[in-house]
Amino acid sequence: MEAWRRQLSDPVSAFPIAKAGPAHIATLKTFDPPLAALEGRQLRGAERRGKRLLFPTEDGELVLLVHLMTSGRLKFLQAGETGPKQPAFALAFAGGSKLVLTENAKRKRAGVWLLTPEQAEQEVEHLGPEALGLDAAALGEIVRGDSRRLHSLLRDQRAIAGIGRAWANEILHSAKLSPYALSRDLSDEEVERLATAINDELSRGLALREAGASDDRTYRVHKRLGKPCHVCGTPLAQVDFEEHTIFYCPDCQTGGRVLKDRRLSRLLR
Ligand SMILES: [Zn+2]
Repeated sequence: MEAWRRQLSDPVSAFPIAKAGPAHIATLKTFDPPLAALEGRQLRGAERRGKRLLFPTEDGELVLLVHLMTSGRLKFLQAGETGPKQPAFALAFAGGSKLVLTENAKRKRAGVWLLTPEQAEQEVEHLGPEALGLDAAALGEIVRGDSRRLHSLLRDQRAIAGIGRAWANEILHSAKLSPYALSRDLSDEEVERLATAINDELSRGLALREAGASDDRTYRVHKRLGKPCHVCGTPLAQVDFEEHTIFYCPDCQTGGRVLKDRRLSRLLR
């Protein structure tokens, strides 16, 4: 998300908005103020809170909030550049450039909200501190505040903002911690390792994204079932947990143990 923000901030603020929309009915989550209220206004740039991108208007009256979820993508098109035929959302700028959101998935989950600054503040106020830049002391307070399985805690935006399931996999592998480890059981040294892993992995991801790297080149653990661990060569494993699939190295992270399926649906049966 931080890579998107850096890429988009300048181009979206260069020209006033000529036309806001069209928007897919499942993508646009608000109707008041109407999208047309954006027309004629200029954006101030792009900001980020956790996984949300915020585009405030120059006049301070409106904020366009975008959450890409898993499969939404944003693209900035220069004047004359052709884009997708039916974007889920589009903003056209004076001069002909465009910002388009596409989502290549059956179920549309990405969302666009047009809000007042007060509403936008409410949307983001429940978010925890930003993951990137979190130090061991702050992380220590978070992990000791609650006894949670690490994979679940890392993904909880109210605890720490900005880590999704893919980066939770990468971070826990880098920290050599089990995804199922309970947060309160971590030693001080393990908290240090986790804080370092969060910053190292998110910085690595940011640099690769800025260089335009594909998922394949970015992830070393996520979605790499059976591939050799880049540290020890053991085939990577996967396990279903809550509504997610976790990827991990049984040698580096769980002392050789294979993790058991803990899907909610199985536990409820
Ligand atoms: Zn390994």
